[in-house]
Amino acid sequence: MAAPPIRITVLGSGTSVGVPTIGCHCDVCASTDPRDNRLRPSILVSFEDRNILIDATPDFRAQALRARIGHLDAIVFTHAHADHIMGLDDVRPFNFRQKGPIPIYGSEETLASIQRVFQYIFDGARKESNIPKLDPRPLAGQAVDLFGLPFLPVPILHGSQTIQGFRFGRAAYLTDHSAIPEASMDQLRELDVLFLDALRYKPHPTHSTVDRSVKTVEALAPRRAFFTHICHDLRHARAESLLPPNIRLAYDGLEILVEGDR
Ligand SMILES: [Zn+2]
Ligand SMILES: [Zn+2]
Ligand SMILES: [Zn+2]
Repeated sequence: MAAPPIRITVLGSGTSVGVPTIGCHCDVCASTDPRDNRLRPSILVSFEDRNILIDATPDFRAQALRARIGHLDAIVFTHAHADHIMGLDDVRPFNFRQKGPIPIYGSEETLASIQRVFQYIFDGARKESNIPKLDPRPLAGQAVDLFGLPFLPVPILHGSQTIQGFRFGRAAYLTDHSAIPEASMDQLRELDVLFLDALRYKPHPTHSTVDRSVKTVEALAPRRAFFTHICHDLRHARAESLLPPNIRLAYDGLEILVEGDR
């Protein structure tokens, strides 16, 4: 299936607590460089007249306003940690405008967690107030066609938990991971753009580090790589100056054009 050219908008490049971090006065949290302000991790994948959101963070409302998202065709979830799902209630204005439910995709486990956390959305009981209208669609191992763009779930390890990264066309988005299984590496060849978790320099039990993700880029050789899910240990300008030119730090508001399939 040929993929169209895609635009990726980075809605948030920060770790679970965001940067600045509440109560912290370190030089990154106090930085005046806008690239050191990181909302929770999410991207918008746009092509033709479609907008697909990957993860709905606690900052989703601010992110949607800042990126001027006018409509939402689907949401794809990587996993159900709070920093990736807690903005889900804020999709209601899209339901009003679009007059219909929004499909949400994720593994069986991710969707089950979302249905438990947001029980009021899915319990079928009559409500006096407005709730999001969502259509859960479980993703197994195979690619799903989203309006002409194939989305392939790529299993990655987030500590002891297996979650989903995604490949779509010649781009891939691998947030929260501590390891990438060999079979998944094979699904990530010949990429134009690769997003990788790079929390900080120091090792972490459930996240990749700058060094580890640099090694992943060397192994997969995408044309360009962008690091995300970044904490306040990395000052944008300095951290980026230490990276090879094909690896950049993502920052909130960054837009990237991805080549279509040749
Ligand atoms: Zn996370
Ligand atoms: Zn700080
Ligand atoms: Zn996580």
